Amino acid sequence: MTTATQLRQQTRMIRGTVLLPGDTGYHRARSVWNAAVDRHPRLIVRAAGADDVAAAVRAAGELDLEIGVRCGGHSAAGHAVPDGGLMIDLTPMGGVAVDPASRTALVQGGALLGALDRASQEFGLATTAGNVSHTGVGGLTLGGGMGWLARQHGLACDNVTSFTVVLADGSITTASAAEHPDLYWGLRGGGGNFGIVTEFAFRLHDTGSNASSVEVDFPLDQAAAVLRGWRDLNATAPRQATFTADIENGLATVGYVWTGDRQGDTSLLPAIRSLGRPCGERVVRSSYLQLQTRIDTAGRHGKRRYAKNHYFTGLTDEAIEQLVTGADDPMFPGAGLQAYGGAIADVPDDASAFSHRGVAFELNAGTGWTDPAQDAARIDAARSYAARLAPFASGAYVNALGDEGADGVRRAYSPAKLARLTELKNAYDPQNVFHLNANIPPSR
Ligand SMILES: Cc1cc2nc3c(=O)[nH]c(=O)nc-3n(C[C@H](O)[C@H](O)[C@H](O)COP(=O)(O)OP(=O)(O)OC[C@H]3O[C@@H](n4cnc5c(N)ncnc54)[C@H](O)[C@@H]3O)c2cc1C
Repeated sequence: MTTATQLRQQTRMIRGTVLLPGDTGYHRARSVWNAAVDRHPRLIVRAAGADDVAAAVRAAGELDLEIGVRCGGHSAAGHAVPDGGLMIDLTPMGGVAVDPASRTALVQGGALLGALDRASQEFGLATTAGNVSHTGVGGLTLGGGMGWLARQHGLACDNVTSFTVVLADGSITTASAAEHPDLYWGLRGGGGNFGIVTEFAFRLHDTGSNASSVEVDFPLDQAAAVLRGWRDLNATAPRQATFTADIENGLATVGYVWTGDRQGDTSLLPAIRSLGRPCGERVVRSSYLQLQTRIDTAGRHGKRRYAKNHYFTGLTDEAIEQLVTGADDPMFPGAGLQAYGGAIADVPDDASAFSHRGVAFELNAGTGWTDPAQDAARIDAARSYAARLAPFASGAYVNALGDEGADGVRRAYSPAKLARLTELKNAYDPQNVFHLNANIPPSR
């Protein structure tokens, strides 16, 4: 086995920090969002720039070490942390530079969503980002990137105009509509399969700084009827409104998040109230930045986590019946629905690797706990809930895959997309150097 001295020698050109087991900061750097992930890389390169990332990719090849790439560390499966491998930690590369005149943001590959939102909102601008500010721009955008602005401005990946990428051979290239358009297509939804993105160029929108959320609570015995009405209201909702529903803690909570001009932000509240006999409601008017951090604590680091995900093209009455069944069980994983549609579905399906643009709703059934003795019971409950709903689902979101392996990847992409992604993998990463992800293996 390579000695520590050899590892240090091989990575001596790295400008950032190189950490080996025993070094100060090693444990902090290997910890990710899901506390159940407890893996030990042989070394961690905390990259200072694209040159460091390229040097780390080459060093991993020379040392024959598996590569893991860390941005926000939110992958529930812990893909960022290679056990016994070389972890490329991009978090020191967390900078964002906004040019308000051209409405663009240059975002380093290790930036978190909060950094992108804060820098853009300085100018009343924003682009689609996810709902928890400590999520990484890297993983979220490469797999699609759903957020409160998506129904107006498309997914995060739809707003990327160019990527700077370190490829499997350690070379650095640009992918855009003009340069390597095939790679540009694949990076918008194909995940981390094709290279390590060191910089994203995002298109920003004049969103203003206002947000509102409307939530109405109903007792569980009304949940099925309420969800049926909520589903029907969603069909005609304006693009500023993203419908949400949560079934947890003995309640069904339905409503929507509204972004942009406040005119009309509560116009759907009476219709939502009248879906049943509510037992609570909240209307919160906030800044966009407050909206973007409002579930940071609920989604915090440090808990053991397990989640399942389904897309629904429609939500039939039978599916709704299954959604609410068992919601009073203490092991019920909790179910959150978020509406798609609008600008997400305006983009032609073959324009990017992202699949399932036509879905109506995404379901996340996610559970978090601290006692390892509960692992099996928690995971079993989430799996059996998701299995009951699977017959009604039309696929899954690639960024929400966990331990599903190749079956999950087949749910995330249509067969035609998967074939095109496999050809791209053959061209850009024929040795499958980047495989700790929702992996698309090369076919030759
Ligand atoms: C609390 C929470 C909230 C979430 N909310 C949303 C949401 O609102 N919308 C949504 O769409 N998704 C959401 N997700 C899912 C999220 O998109 C995925 O977990 C995503 O993989 C997170 O990316 P990351 O950079 O934080 O994770 P990491 O674990 O660091 O990376 C995930 C994967 O992406 C690869 N990767 C990361 N950065 C790069 C890069 N620069 N270049 C190449 N490969 C890279 C990694 O190698 C790994 O395979 C959420 C997840 C969590 C845990």
